[in-house]
Amino acid sequence: MSTLRFHALKKTLANKPVMFDDNVRRSELFASNVFNENTMQKYLTKDAMQGVLNAIQRGKKIERGVADQVAASMRDWALSKGVTHYSHWFQPLTGSTAEKHDAFFELTENGLGIEKFEGSSLVQQEPDASSFPSGGIRNTFEARGYTAWDPTSPAFIIGTTLCIPTIFVAYTGEALDYKTPLLKALHAVDEAATDVCKYFDKNVKKVSSSLGWEQEYFLVDKELIASRPDILLTGRTLIGHSSAKGQQLDDHYFGAIPTRAFNFMKDLEHECILLGIPVKTRHNEVAPNQFELAPIYEEANLAVDHNALVMDIMARVAKRHNFKVLLHEKPFAGINGSGKHNNWSLSTDTGINLLSPGKTPMSNLQFLTFFINTIKAVKDYEELLRASIASASNDHRLGANEAPPAIMSVFIGEQLSKVLAELEGVTKGKLSPEEKTELKLNVVGKIPDVLLDNTDRNRTSPFAFTGNKFEFRAVGSLSNCGNPMTVLNTIVAKQLKGFKVEVDTLINKKDLKKDEAIFNVLREYIKDTKAILFEGNGYGKIWEDEAKKRGLSNNRTTPEALEAKISEKSISLFEEMGVMSKIETVARYEIEMEAYVTHIQIESIVLGDMARNQIVPTAVKYQNILIENVQGLKSIFENDFNKLAKEQLKLIKEISKHIEGINDNVTKMIKAREAANSNEKVQEKAIAYCFKVKPFFEKIRTHCDSLELLVDNEIWPLAKYSEMLFTR
Ligand code: ADP
Ligand code: MG
Repeated sequence: MSTLRFHALKKTLANKPVMFDDNVRRSELFASNVFNENTMQKYLTKDAMQGVLNAIQRGKKIERGVADQVAASMRDWALSKGVTHYSHWFQPLTGSTAEKHDAFFELTENGLGIEKFEGSSLVQQEPDASSFPSGGIRNTFEARGYTAWDPTSPAFIIGTTLCIPTIFVAYTGEALDYKTPLLKALHAVDEAATDVCKYFDKNVKKVSSSLGWEQEYFLVDKELIASRPDILLTGRTLIGHSSAKGQQLDDHYFGAIPTRAFNFMKDLEHECILLGIPVKTRHNEVAPNQFELAPIYEEANLAVDHNALVMDIMARVAKRHNFKVLLHEKPFAGINGSGKHNNWSLSTDTGINLLSPGKTPMSNLQFLTFFINTIKAVKDYEELLRASIASASNDHRLGANEAPPAIMSVFIGEQLSKVLAELEGVTKGKLSPEEKTELKLNVVGKIPDVLLDNTDRNRTSPFAFTGNKFEFRAVGSLSNCGNPMTVLNTIVAKQLKGFKVEVDTLINKKDLKKDEAIFNVLREYIKDTKAILFEGNGYGKIWEDEAKKRGLSNNRTTPEALEAKISEKSISLFEEMGVMSKIETVARYEIEMEAYVTHIQIESIVLGDMARNQIVPTAVKYQNILIENVQGLKSIFENDFNKLAKEQLKLIKEISKHIEGINDNVTKMIKAREAANSNEKVQEKAIAYCFKVKPFFEKIRTHCDSLELLVDNEIWPLAKYSEMLFTR
């Protein structure tokens, strides 16, 4: 009997729900472990508070004295909650979060201990971070990078540590994390959008970008994972025959949440609430043992931090409930993978959601302005947007006919398509009073009614308008939202900046009225963006062919997709918008290519090892049992032997065929790996891993999965799909 798998199964079957009571009101607990404005107010002098608010709201620099006060109050607050350490918390380009803890404890001159935390330690820290990816920006001999406080995202407590959200930059100034360019992109979109808002309302001083993410994940029994080196080391199954029952019956989706998972969710959400993450929605997803968590949307920088934090907390809480949480985009072949829809919008400091139609024709013109400019931005930078969500793991999902395809397109629904069609007919230049009235009353004025019954939701679209926001659906479940949010906000900023110039030119040079000028520019955008608008089925060949005719990119794999990041167009975009220098853009490309190579390399090694060390020996063991049986039959039934042992003999041969298939392909895969490794350039290496190494995965897997069906269940070493997906 396969000891590890059956030991795990035994433990799994004995697992009881770990009950979690969440009987305290969320409103009472909300953010109690967060040093937010409310808490700060209790500790800071009026002036210091104003200093911090200026930094948060207007990006002003924080004076040293104020930083000292904030640090002291953070320390007092944290000590009152039993905290002993502080840590700068950041998001290096590994994709996970990083922290290095320092005790508040210090020695005084006379040898006594005190708890101390000064402004300088709050504002800046120098972690020994030479092992984080830098894309060649830092040479390791001067591997200095530092973290710097981001006052726009409040400090929080995890366990006994005060975590301070920070950016992570090299001493030479280049960003080494996700947050730095995101903050710059948010600044760029704020400036550009505020300028455009002034056409409609002079009082607007700030525009913020909002993000509401929806995190999908799988829960699998912790013990079962112990028998799966592939999940342990790569986050997904590299081998495994599909279960007879998968998601065909659709009986999991939105069904009653299984008790153990439900208690995990309550526990997780409790932790989130303490940390000020406004979690709202939970439900079963399409695949068995797949679930979703979504918060109320927040300002984008905070939402990105909160998502990164949630992914960490999930892993920790899952352990308490004897689960392992799988965030990989495609942990199991043959059933749905996981994504992370990024709902995105822009809103003003006067409380207006710029992607929500208003009550007056003028506010609707504002809505249309931002709506159409966003579409234009996506049209002009579709390839870069695709690149922003590229990763080895997300490649499994995009284009796999269950998630948005690798082709970027925008879905806006039938009603808004009609509105755009009417606007396309707007007269060039000055408009007659009749046309203006007609537009205001019957086109722009009708929008709110139109949207109320706009219920058609195209789930196959990667970028869909859903009433008062766009939903970027192609983002992977494992990704840090910082990357796509940086690109989306940057391209919209660039677009709005260009729009402003065009409208101003028409006003100043052609003597058009403001609304005439806006209608004129929007009309041209509508004509120009037709290729990116798509209302049909995004899955399948027909759209692929159509998209090709339209000139849209279809970069199915990460190495192909990432090229768009270092095109002249992208480099100058990031430079112009002040988001990243050329050095930073190129470094990121290198890091992401390198990460791709490493991921495929690890998968390849793990798969080769499992196939040879676990699957082949198991197959041989079973084959020996068959051989023994055949020999026994022969000794008993000399005459009928051939007839009686026919099936066993066939099986013996078939097993040999699969063993050969495995060994042959693993040998070839290792050769392909060696050849890939010999490439000097990361681009060539990535291409080689993608097209020369990866194709062996499927071949090896097919043999292993066939063996899973042939070999005696009692000796199969790996937890099976049915066990991992239906134990709850
Ligand atoms: P669904 O899309 O699943 O039907 P909703 O329309 O209620 O559900 O919203 C889905 C997500 O969109 C939620 O996480 C919510 O926080 C987010 N969301 C709603 N409005 C906005 C907005 N203005 N900006 C960003 N995200 C938003
Ligand atoms: Mg949604």
